[in-house]
Amino acid sequence: MSDTKVRVRFAPSPTGPLHIGGVRTALYNYLFARKHGGDFILRIEDTDSTRFVEGAEEYIIESFKWLGLKFDEGVGVGGPHGPYRQSERREIYREYVKRLLDADKAYIAFDTPEELAKKREEVKNFQYDATTRLQMRNSLSMPKSEVDQLIAQGQQYVVRFKVEPGQDICVHDLIRGDVVINSSILDDKVLYKSADQLPTYHLANIVDDHLMEVTHVIRGEEWLSSAPLHVLLYKAFGWEQSMPQFAHLPLLLKPDGKGKLSKRDGDRLGFPVFPLEWHDPKSGEISNGFREKGYFPEAVVNFLALLGWNPGTEQEIFSLPELIDQFSLERCSKSGAKFDFQKAAWFNHEYILRKEDSEIAPQFDAILKANGINAPLDRVTQVVGMMKNRINFVSELWPLCKFFFVAPTEYDEKTVKKRWKEYSASQMRDLYKVLEGLDDFSLEHQEAVVMKHIEDNGLKTGDVMNAFRLALVGAGVGPHMFDISSFLGKEETLRRLDRAIKTLG
Ligand code: GLU
Repeated sequence: MSDTKVRVRFAPSPTGPLHIGGVRTALYNYLFARKHGGDFILRIEDTDSTRFVEGAEEYIIESFKWLGLKFDEGVGVGGPHGPYRQSERREIYREYVKRLLDADKAYIAFDTPEELAKKREEVKNFQYDATTRLQMRNSLSMPKSEVDQLIAQGQQYVVRFKVEPGQDICVHDLIRGDVVINSSILDDKVLYKSADQLPTYHLANIVDDHLMEVTHVIRGEEWLSSAPLHVLLYKAFGWEQSMPQFAHLPLLLKPDGKGKLSKRDGDRLGFPVFPLEWHDPKSGEISNGFREKGYFPEAVVNFLALLGWNPGTEQEIFSLPELIDQFSLERCSKSGAKFDFQKAAWFNHEYILRKEDSEIAPQFDAILKANGINAPLDRVTQVVGMMKNRINFVSELWPLCKFFFVAPTEYDEKTVKKRWKEYSASQMRDLYKVLEGLDDFSLEHQEAVVMKHIEDNGLKTGDVMNAFRLALVGAGVGPHMFDISSFLGKEETLRRLDRAIKTLG
């Protein structure tokens, strides 16, 4: 491997929005490529026209733009091995199908879907393979003249791979070690369909990995069962020498219980399983995305990196360069990784804490504007600084911080009952006078004067502060009291105090 340049590909099929597991696969490919100074390729596997979904390719490209994971080659980027969209490579695949046919490693089969269904009904666990292929309608069981005639008549056919039975096939997997299966359990997979003149996934995938000089195939565990067939295909083409190394990543599991993470888990437990919001072009259904939910792309990358890989230390927060530096396939696990969405939110919180207040302020400012509030950005930034340690998402700031920008018109009933005593109005009237007399309304000065006033008059700090808070906030929440009053300023503080005294009496 030392003298060959590492080349990896992410090869999604545009059959809908990219699942977060697919994003994880792409991320591991990306980290591996960057770590080894290699290339990261985007190939679109769109040979199954029946499953093609409008907009899915654009969605995939936009997702990686958002995440900041750049491809070196591929759809949307270009490169020396293009085209990178499989539907544009028909001619290439036809040539390789012909090679297999000429070498007697594949054959033409005419069985219609109805005939195959009937066979499956008749024979329990029917498998199209060495034991059954001669009972079927194909170029192995029929004379050549008949085959030629049927093709000339325009009969639809498929090309099947001729799997030699009874051989042990070994898949060397960098995460799982050697996985050995016997070829007798494989069926003669369809490699090509005359109907749409397109290869199936298996053929296109192998031919392209070879032609694109892919050195490592890093993909989800669900493809492990295809790997033995892929090994046989490499051999059939005589490409064993340049066969890529395989690494099958562990499944992403439901947050609760067993089984694969699905979109339904997200709907049920209220978290996204797609990077971006997805508008289904057919049903019109909208699915939530990490971006729209308010996740930072760095937090998503960091969280996903640790779902199936571990650094071998306690470190949890990683920048992208740190991930590139530390990533290795040897530290990927075989067993499934639970998708802990609360942990995902925790990561976002950590990134909020690490970001400058001024970096977060524009996002909060947009929310304020949407709520009809135009505040100077430095004041928005100040509020972010006071409150960001309490949130996982910037969107949580509005309900939490509204009172900084809008005076309360109502007072939380429970808090009033508990905090507004019969003497509160008179205490607040005194406090009003104290504050009114201040020229310096800074946090420190206010605090010193008010505390002295409390002490001199033998008041309870809790009584005064709780009522004061209720008057300014309308509830029993918020940061340090004098943070609030100094932010609001003298005029607004007095106005709110006065209003509370009049309203609550
Ligand atoms: N097109 C396959 C997918 O959608 C690619 C699998 C592979 O990476 O070989 O995931």
